[in-house]
Amino acid sequence: MKACQKIVRAGASVALAAVLMMEGATAQDLRPSFDMAVPVVPAPVALEGRRQYAYELHLTNFSADPLRIRELSVLDAETGETLTRFAGERLAARLSHVATGRDAEAIAPGERAILYIEFERDRGALPRRLSHRADYTLAGPGAPKAFGVFGADIAIDMRPIPILGPPLSGGPWVAIHHPDWVRGHRRMVYAVGGKARIPGRFAIDWIKADMTGRTTSGDADAVSATLGYGADVIAVADAVVAGVRDDMSESDRISANPRHPIGDAAGNFVSLALPGGRYAIYEHLKPGSIRVKPGDPVRKGAIIASLGFTGDSTGPHLHFHVADAAEPLQGEGMPFLIDRFMALGRYGDIGRLGSSPWDAALLEDGDARTAERPGSNMVVMFRSRARD
Ligand SMILES: [Zn+2]
Repeated sequence: MKACQKIVRAGASVALAAVLMMEGATAQDLRPSFDMAVPVVPAPVALEGRRQYAYELHLTNFSADPLRIRELSVLDAETGETLTRFAGERLAARLSHVATGRDAEAIAPGERAILYIEFERDRGALPRRLSHRADYTLAGPGAPKAFGVFGADIAIDMRPIPILGPPLSGGPWVAIHHPDWVRGHRRMVYAVGGKARIPGRFAIDWIKADMTGRTTSGDADAVSATLGYGADVIAVADAVVAGVRDDMSESDRISANPRHPIGDAAGNFVSLALPGGRYAIYEHLKPGSIRVKPGDPVRKGAIIASLGFTGDSTGPHLHFHVADAAEPLQGEGMPFLIDRFMALGRYGDIGRLGSSPWDAALLEDGDARTAERPGSNMVVMFRSRARD
């Protein structure tokens, strides 16, 4: 009973302690291993009729030995149910070392790795607390001995998720984001301003297409021929303008866009202060197009700027995310929902965008969506905005 008592003292629920007792001795061995932490606790985000939890588990090896992760499990801390499990290829695809970005499962002493977690639940079966279990071995030579450790017992963030208007009007617009992309916004950690954060945890890059899936009307390298270029960018809520940058120029040719220093990567941007310490951030805006200045109140649906090609960008698009700071790189990305949109389909292979239509059969729910996050590479229509 000794280990059980220790676990209860450490704050785990009685139900979880009972699970620990059943899992065998290895889970309770007291030996130096990982510091397990969830820097930003997840909230249940409405997606395709279900609820998705998207967050990161940080694992820092505080032992003197290299440790090899074998399996990482997410548990309902109240029932002990395993909600999702990462092992083998799935673990390798989701575990990333901070220092090198490599996906090896061996974590050196002092090294930190991040597990990018997404899992979904039906609406009626939402956990309130999560716990995590790391199963590992010593990574050195010799017969591997298995160990296990529980950590990062967290309460789900049940605060309401902001329901926003669309940042653009009409369409079709392709919601570019995918949790599997190693270089995608979901996994871009910026340790600027004294803290490691993921501003784009829930970012969406919006690219306009026509009904055949083309994204340009002529010369594919001409910025002005891109279908979305110059489109109205609109306020997602009644808000106050918190930040504006409008001093960056842009290239005429997509291929001529230089790499920018990290502080210029967002290009021209607007951030709007929303209730609850959240900010809506619009990036890569067209030079000279921004119609607002800091302190201005804006009404939901008002035009605030035009879609452009400033900063680091592989083509004209609108980058949009919500975070807890007004500066593009200094906030933690927070979830948001869009009040109303029509889902037209999805690109299963985003490489086909620009040359082929999307696949309407890849939708998992009806076409009229309310208060939902547009899914990965989903193609949507927003309501058209009456011109001023
Ligand atoms: Zn972006």
